[in-house]
Amino acid sequence: MENILYKSTRGNDEKVTASKAILKGIAGDGGLFVPEKLPKLKLELKDIINKDYKELAYLVMKEFLTDFTEEELKYCIDGAYDKKFDTSLIAPLKKAGDDYYLELYHGATLAFKDMALSILPYLLKTAAKKEKMEKEIVILTATSGDTGKAALEGFSDVEGIKIIVFFPEEGVSDIQKRQMTTHKGNNTYVVGIKGNFDHAQSGVKNIFNDKELAIEMDNNNYIFSSANSINIGRLVPQVVYYFYAYSQLCKQNAISVGEKMNVVVPTGNFGNILAGYYAASMGLPINKFICASNDNNVLTDFINSGVYDRNREFFTTVSPSMDILISSNLERMLYELSGGDSNKIREFMADLNEKGIYEITKDMKDRLGKFYGAFANEEETLNAIKEVYARAQYLIDTHTSVAYVANEKYKEFSGDNTKSVIVSTASPYKFTGAVMGAIDDKYNTLNDFELIQEMAQYTEGYVPAAIKDIEKRTVIHSTICEKDEMKQVVKGILNI
Ligand SMILES: *Cc1c(COP(=O)(O)O)cnc(C)c1O
Repeated sequence: MENILYKSTRGNDEKVTASKAILKGIAGDGGLFVPEKLPKLKLELKDIINKDYKELAYLVMKEFLTDFTEEELKYCIDGAYDKKFDTSLIAPLKKAGDDYYLELYHGATLAFKDMALSILPYLLKTAAKKEKMEKEIVILTATSGDTGKAALEGFSDVEGIKIIVFFPEEGVSDIQKRQMTTHKGNNTYVVGIKGNFDHAQSGVKNIFNDKELAIEMDNNNYIFSSANSINIGRLVPQVVYYFYAYSQLCKQNAISVGEKMNVVVPTGNFGNILAGYYAASMGLPINKFICASNDNNVLTDFINSGVYDRNREFFTTVSPSMDILISSNLERMLYELSGGDSNKIREFMADLNEKGIYEITKDMKDRLGKFYGAFANEEETLNAIKEVYARAQYLIDTHTSVAYVANEKYKEFSGDNTKSVIVSTASPYKFTGAVMGAIDDKYNTLNDFELIQEMAQYTEGYVPAAIKDIEKRTVIHSTICEKDEMKQVVKGILNI
């Protein structure tokens, strides 16, 4: 069996096992860990059709995590994809109208982050054991709303691990905020920052790269790791559901085995769509990757022009989990597009850091041809929620709606009639205010919590258990800090 090692996108020569890459979260030179070479699925497509989610998870993940034994990996998978999900399919593909939606929100916190964050704690614990790690692991996480709760859920009360979550105090939905600030677990810390997600994410990256702090941490027997999608342990589990979507499309006779599909992905940090790209390079027949953005359309412009320019206004939108201007995992994509040219990546990232802008080469731009970028503004996003419900009695959340709009724009532009899978990243129950307001103005007088009950009539009476009593839960975490105080807050929590 082939052994896959991981190296930094920025090219220091260090090569590490998957376990080490997962434990470290980010490479020593500030780059992201990538597989030295992308593996292939050792299975014919027709043989994936009858695999259940866990079987498929094993077959895909073992190609990336080659230092895990079969027993270890199966233990992780079994622990993750269990009754925490409210359907045994884990990631059902629903047909509504003419469209197919891959519902990735059936886990504990109602967003697709559960797909990876249910298993990451298992992977991390297993990796720590393999590497004989004796230090206490401190997971530092920046969240645009969904990662935070999913990480808290996954890491609560896991022995040997503490988790600290930073979220933009004014940049998440009321339900997202309440999910986090009421979270129990004696190893969990939740902190609001006066800034947006980009500030939270840069703050966390700075803490990771702080050499002095690393020494203090070491002296106190702590080590940092990350639950953000900069951690390769987040990405690998996400590759699985693209294969699963394909197998369901085949099973539902929408396509025949071997035929291509398009995927439409509401994108922020570029983790989800990159996992799709990894799936394609493993052998999954994907025709186009439709990268959907909201008004923070830095990726749409990048795909169209080859210029990444974050010097623009930041908008707070109804799809807050995509309110991002610095899309971290794009660095991994650039690495692929440049054929692994770390010098180029270092240049781009230095430019991004210093000037906020870089332009990729002509060759790289040509290789971006499999991607199509489109964005939905606020009005289009809200209108589409109403339209999809009216046409198919199917309620989608704001992020999924952004993807729906992007797909419509793609179809109109291209005339392509390849079947598309719209990746549905959150339950409408996380964004009751925006979703119900889109359905009918009359709901604008009610708050997000009151709207939970109202929403039930649009989902055949079904209300997810995860948020049923959410407004009655006690707020436990109320710390708020300035964006330049994050390091101090972390030191305070760790008492160092
Ligand atoms: C995180 C998130 C996204 C963006 O995913 P990336 O992997 O960061 O591109 C989209 N929708 C929802 C609901 C999310 O929580």
